[in-house]
Amino acid sequence: MQELDSRLDALRHQLSTIPEAAALAEFTARRTEVDGAARDLQIEVGDLTTEQKRADADVEQVKARRERDQAMIDAGSISDPKALQRMLGELESLQRRISDLEDVEIEVMERLETAQSALEERTAELAKLDRDIEALGHTRAHKAGDLDEQVAAVAAERKTTASGIPADLLALYEKLRVQKGGVGAAALRRRECTGCRLTLNPSDLAAIAAAPTDEVVRCEECSRILVRTGESGL
Ligand SMILES: [Zn+2]
Repeated sequence: MQELDSRLDALRHQLSTIPEAAALAEFTARRTEVDGAARDLQIEVGDLTTEQKRADADVEQVKARRERDQAMIDAGSISDPKALQRMLGELESLQRRISDLEDVEIEVMERLETAQSALEERTAELAKLDRDIEALGHTRAHKAGDLDEQVAAVAAERKTTASGIPADLLALYEKLRVQKGGVGAAALRRRECTGCRLTLNPSDLAAIAAAPTDEVVRCEECSRILVRTGESGL
């Protein structure tokens, strides 16, 4: 009985400490983090794409105006020298404006590229995390399934064993198990209680040796039920 309970305790401990479960929790937390970062980058890429289109349009608009002015000059349609002078001055300032706007355009494009490559990295990391999480989930489920089966088998064996033990003895055993760190009964081996590892004194041993085999004997030191075996040294 004690052996079955110890096996059950060990199996339940294993179930609650499957390494894959801990790794899974870690990976899932990391996934949430990366997913949040990817969403932020997605928004940033969207904003920068809009900004880039605007910068492109600004450049195109000023270029169109410059071409219009240039065409008028080339066609010789401005005969007044002062008006021509003004027009040339305007062309110069348009050229400066185009150059400024192109700088803005390049700067936005660079920021967009940086955000895009960061987003790609995050997306790849997410895909890898998803694969790892899936694999860990399978392994964990597999291990848990195996352990559940073992628990069920040992629990069934325990039930059969328990049905052959008198109710009061079973109750005493259960109570001691709770009080004594999961060990309610211990074998008496070579005059030693395997529960508390203490050697029994000769008078206690004599009393145990004299007790009928169906009488429940307890360790004087730790109160556990002592199970007499062929190796008890009585
Ligand atoms: Zn003991």
